[in-house]
Amino acid sequence: MLIDSHCHLDLLPEYAISLWDAEKVGVKHVLCPGVALADAMRVLAIAQKYSNVSAAVGSHPTEEIDLFITVEQIKNLAANQCVVGIGETGLDYYARGGEITAEHKEQQKQKFRVHIQVALELKKPLIIHSRDAALETLQIIEEEGASQVGGVFHCFTYDWNVAKRVLDLGFYLGISGIITFKNAHILQEVVVKAPLEKMLLETDAPFLAPDPYRGKSNEPKYLIYIARQVAKLKGISEEAVAKQTTENFGRLFQKFQAVKN
Ligand SMILES: [Zn+2]
Ligand SMILES: [Zn+2]
Repeated sequence: MLIDSHCHLDLLPEYAISLWDAEKVGVKHVLCPGVALADAMRVLAIAQKYSNVSAAVGSHPTEEIDLFITVEQIKNLAANQCVVGIGETGLDYYARGGEITAEHKEQQKQKFRVHIQVALELKKPLIIHSRDAALETLQIIEEEGASQVGGVFHCFTYDWNVAKRVLDLGFYLGISGIITFKNAHILQEVVVKAPLEKMLLETDAPFLAPDPYRGKSNEPKYLIYIARQVAKLKGISEEAVAKQTTENFGRLFQKFQAVKN
């Protein structure tokens, strides 16, 4: 059994079929994170309809629509029983054709802090999106005491030095299809060195399809190619990867649930 810890089902044109196809190859559970608060109801509706889907609510760092998001707004949506985490949230300083201004960086930081506050209040783990902003992301996690709830650096793309700090802060590494790309040596080194007990697998579908589907629309069923590559890099069986990462997911996202019940 495999779990896709980060899949934007709501962005897949035929998500019911995608879910069914995924289940057939052993991907038995999917976590669907939020990208903008305005879309949260769409994500929650899917999670409510399918017992093998859980949800997170949050606003992606580049979503300018949610610039002045409040703790109460996120908390209201996170009250839904399908919600197991807060995110995706974080910092994304990757310049898409234009400069990221100091003002925009500050706004992203502020929004990230609001999400962490919610996570701490609700005792739910964070789903962190961090791109070209490793040190700033780690700094905010430390300043806000986010290690109390922990979470996952989804689609981890930094090097081993950053990975070590992420692990020291008690966070998990979200391993995506990027590790199947031939030139992804830095990330492959992270997978070799990091403990399997601290990894989650994810497709980030419809984005980032793994080889041999690179460049095409991604699907949760392609998670098997990511599990296969982790197994190869670690020199262990695919079954061992599936079993351990499934256990990790349960440990991270259900520990607070267990306390509550
Ligand atoms: Zn992301
Ligand atoms: Zn995402």
